[in-house]
Amino acid sequence: AYPTYGRIDGPIVIIGFGSIGKGTLPLIERHFDYDASKLTVIDPDPSKAVFLRQHQINHLQTRLTPENYREVLGDLFEGGGGFCVNLSVDTSSLDIMKFMRELGVLYIDTVAEPWAGYYFNTPDNADRTNYALRQAVRDEKARSPGGTTAVSCCGANPGMVSWFVKDALLTLSRDLGRETAPPEDRAGWAALMQSLGVKGVHIAERDTQARRVPRPRGTFVNTWSVEGFIAEGFQPAELGWGTHETWFPENAHRHDTGCQAAIWLERPGAITRVHTWCPTPGPQFGFIVTHNEAISISDYYTVGEGAAPEYRPTCHYAYHPCDDAVLSLHEMFGSGRQQTRHHILTEDEIVEGIDELGVLLYGHDKNALWYGSRLSNEEARDLAPYQNATGLQVTSAVLAGMVWALENPNAGIVETDEMDFARCLEVQRPYLGPVEAHYTDWTPLQDRWAQFPEDIDESDPWQFRNVLAT
Ligand code: NAD
Repeated sequence: AYPTYGRIDGPIVIIGFGSIGKGTLPLIERHFDYDASKLTVIDPDPSKAVFLRQHQINHLQTRLTPENYREVLGDLFEGGGGFCVNLSVDTSSLDIMKFMRELGVLYIDTVAEPWAGYYFNTPDNADRTNYALRQAVRDEKARSPGGTTAVSCCGANPGMVSWFVKDALLTLSRDLGRETAPPEDRAGWAALMQSLGVKGVHIAERDTQARRVPRPRGTFVNTWSVEGFIAEGFQPAELGWGTHETWFPENAHRHDTGCQAAIWLERPGAITRVHTWCPTPGPQFGFIVTHNEAISISDYYTVGEGAAPEYRPTCHYAYHPCDDAVLSLHEMFGSGRQQTRHHILTEDEIVEGIDELGVLLYGHDKNALWYGSRLSNEEARDLAPYQNATGLQVTSAVLAGMVWALENPNAGIVETDEMDFARCLEVQRPYLGPVEAHYTDWTPLQDRWAQFPEDIDESDPWQFRNVLAT
């Protein structure tokens, strides 16, 4: 028997029925009480229609746009109440979130997404950053505090990894022989991270999921949204910029407004490599693809404020996607054009592999701690239908975020750093496979090519200068 986490009164609308929407549906069915006749999926793609019809799910085959979203969603949520679960690409998270709060409808998404066209047609790179997209949500929160809960960026990452950071800090604190009572507010968490000597955090991920047949040339293969990955991969590389950094990349820019916790590089994230570490491969290259959590975590753990605070951790994604996706990126950037054929590996065609997704807290007295989920596709298939390991790490975070929103319906706009991490992980954990802590003595100064001298800083292994691969 699966736990029921409460009743959702009113309509449930799932926007987008791709790999994540399709995987989230069975978890909603399993864990909430609601009126099934009031659940609607909005997705313009006709290929989703058969599955939805066979499962007797209302399907609105419409593309949400800036012109129609108020009318379409206004009709579906007439009378107020209910839950809007935004799992689509190409819809503005901010616009939809604002409208749902006007209507008193709970809201959740997994990314601060803009309307279609924004990622590629915006001329100024500074405007194409996740910093800009996130800051707009933070500004709305400041302008309109409290009110109906809207959970921003609650997938695996951004999302779950913010809860892992807190569990990892308590683990590290305990292992360093320090008091372990969880801090009660943001300032307390930031002070804890600072006092533990953490210089930074990699969102360190290795996806080893693979199918039997080789990737066909000309097809972009991934384990989640190809469209989403291409869009973020072409955004500038971005990272939360810590106070321990003594060097500044030549191609980097700061921001003049907002929280000022991050910088961005004049280079697409998906071809910007960093040295990082995960339990399965040990040392590896990852891509510093921009992500909301790189900025939110650096911001949340800041002691002080602005461009020169007393303490701030460096934070960025260090992503080794599945091997087929690495080859797809190589082909795409090398040829200068996007593949027209896209494929997301399904749980049934994947024959081996895990998605190892965690946080690597580094620079402290125990050097580095990786803390995360090591979910295999095989286990994911036993746990829930219609998704691979990557998908389940995301959809179970959506489930946890929905539960938290139902239990805290008037919390206003929140990021996952601002939610009850223990409650959320309690809900999510049955879906994460092994969740483990691994210490390592690896640093980015190890495993280099000694024959070729590099411009690195041997006095402090954890400088970004050493992490960034040239
Ligand atoms: P997908 O590409 O498989 O599916 C996206 C779906 O959205 C498609 O079915 C498409 O038809 C639909 N869609 C496109 N434009 C739409 C519009 N204007 N209105 C309504 N529907 C529209 O993507 P996915 O893998 O399911 O990912 C969905 C979203 O979740 C993406 O934004 C992705 O970046 C995000 N995501 C977040 C995380 C995380 O950990 N935070 C992880 C994976 C995916």
